[in-house]
Amino acid sequence: MRAIDEARRVKSKIIAAFETRPWWGGAGLRRGADGRLEVFVAVRPGFLPELPAQVGNTRVVWEYRGVVRLRAALSQGPRPIIFLDFDGVLNSRAYLRRLGIWTRLLPLKRLFDQKSVAMLNQIVAATGAQVVISSWWRRKHSLRELTHELKRMGFIGEVIGATPVLNAERGREITLYLLASRTRAPYVILDDNLVEGHDTHFIQTGKDHGLEQHHVNGAIFELTKGAWR
Ligand SMILES: [Mg+2]
Repeated sequence: MRAIDEARRVKSKIIAAFETRPWWGGAGLRRGADGRLEVFVAVRPGFLPELPAQVGNTRVVWEYRGVVRLRAALSQGPRPIIFLDFDGVLNSRAYLRRLGIWTRLLPLKRLFDQKSVAMLNQIVAATGAQVVISSWWRRKHSLRELTHELKRMGFIGEVIGATPVLNAERGREITLYLLASRTRAPYVILDDNLVEGHDTHFIQTGKDHGLEQHHVNGAIFELTKGAWR
């Protein structure tokens, strides 16, 4: 079979198999950088489906199409905000076990699991989101110290502030921050404990593993859903 016919067949197969999925963005044929025909498939940001990279002899490239449009839409609006908890998000029981530490009160230099910071970076890279610290740790260390430590562990984004300390529920501290800054930015709250009053903005991580891929996908989806219209 000619390469072009095979590639067309692969494209049709892929469309038939996936076009009703929520992450679907379309498919087409093109020549890759090496001159070979390839099928490219657009995947909506926020989803990382596990998919084949090759069908028969045809290469299949899965890419975040619409990212350009999405970036443009996001750049017109205010930058999204991530309200960030630390314990149970950027560190976890699995991480503590790896370190051999059995106290929750970590030294600053051990506060962040590099793997979790890399997860957080995915959200920043996809959405341009900035971080506001909602963690208890904002009482113990200055914003500068915490930012410095995050950066040391590989964080690529910016920390723009912390929520006010009210000695109230975290959800209310976050509400107050939003009101006081008069922002209409899209936002997510990453926290292992329940944060009430914020609907789908709240993404709950698990104490065992902290921030994981499905939380990342959910956060990107939440932060970008307005830009897809
Ligand atoms: Mg926590």
